[in-house]
Amino acid sequence: MIHDFKYLRASTAKEALELIEQHKDDYKIICGGQSLLILMRQGLVAPECLIDIKHLDELNYIQFDKKEGLRIGATTSHRTVETSLLVKKHYPLLVEMEQNIASIQTRNWGTIGGNLAHGDPAGDPGPVFIALNGKVKVANKERERTLPLEEFFIDYFETALEEDELLLEIQIPPIPSKTAVTYEKFNIIKNDQPIVSVAASITLDEDGLSCKDTRIVLGAAAPAPARAREAEKLLVGKKMDDQLLKNVGEVASKEADPVDDIHATESYRKQLVNVLTRRMLGKAWKQAMGLAREEA
Ligand SMILES: Cc1cc2nc3c(=O)[nH]c(=O)nc-3n(C[C@H](O)[C@H](O)[C@H](O)COP(=O)(O)OP(=O)(O)OC[C@H]3O[C@@H](n4cnc5c(N)ncnc54)[C@H](O)[C@@H]3O)c2cc1C
Repeated sequence: MIHDFKYLRASTAKEALELIEQHKDDYKIICGGQSLLILMRQGLVAPECLIDIKHLDELNYIQFDKKEGLRIGATTSHRTVETSLLVKKHYPLLVEMEQNIASIQTRNWGTIGGNLAHGDPAGDPGPVFIALNGKVKVANKERERTLPLEEFFIDYFETALEEDELLLEIQIPPIPSKTAVTYEKFNIIKNDQPIVSVAASITLDEDGLSCKDTRIVLGAAAPAPARAREAEKLLVGKKMDDQLLKNVGEVASKEADPVDDIHATESYRKQLVNVLTRRMLGKAWKQAMGLAREEA
């Protein structure tokens, strides 16, 4: 049963921040409610006050600029991201990722900001945005700040958002040349949250073969989405070969710190990290080599 609560609907981001300031002792932001209402129904969260931001059109946008990259407002729905021609043209991986999140009904109502702010380690957008070197803009009544997404996720359902802060925007820089980014989630039920997921990016050197930079991001493999930094170190300066990818998969698997639960054991999840890391890196590397040839 859901406890009684005061319902306040903000008409602007400024008003939302003022309402937060007034009710900061016991409130929750609600946007699409796809995650929050489940917690409220289970009695895990019982705020005195709900501040509704779903109708803040000023935070419902997708913009692209060649220099700045992509900016997605926090109240933009998954479905809007999925069907955006701008996103399809410049970041097709995001469309693919969105198509595999939940059902169309959930994607229609759930928002990208709500997904990130929920801080679920098994969320799909987190690892992909980190692999794309994304940032988030957040604000309280007094100031705005921007932080890299890899610093945003702290622990299970815990983010770097302070008590009085609202997530405003997701920022994704332009994808550098000779760079490819890949993502795959392993799940038992199609379009459900992953048992484990891996996002990988590879940027190649001038030779179009050697790894100049890389990001390997593990989802549902630790209390928060996180980079497998030891595994990344093995790749820089190297050319692709099967033994290298095998080693990198094994190191990533050692860096993972997954749970053991009814969906999968810890060792099964670690094995999945190993396999998906190898697979995503190999795929990204081949794609990046193809791009380098096209650019030459
Ligand atoms: C059946 C089902 C299947 C799903 N499958 C997947 C899946 O496969 N992959 C996946 O990644 N996700 C999945 N999800 C999760 C879904 O993507 C999220 O529920 C949704 O994106 C959350 O957005 P929302 O707007 O509904 O957030 P809400 O439920 O309204 O809010 C979620 C949390 O974020 C906070 N919040 C919301 N917006 C802001 C903001 N702008 N600033 C600060 N705090 C904010 C709220 O206070 C709350 O704590 C699934 C959900 C359902 C119900």
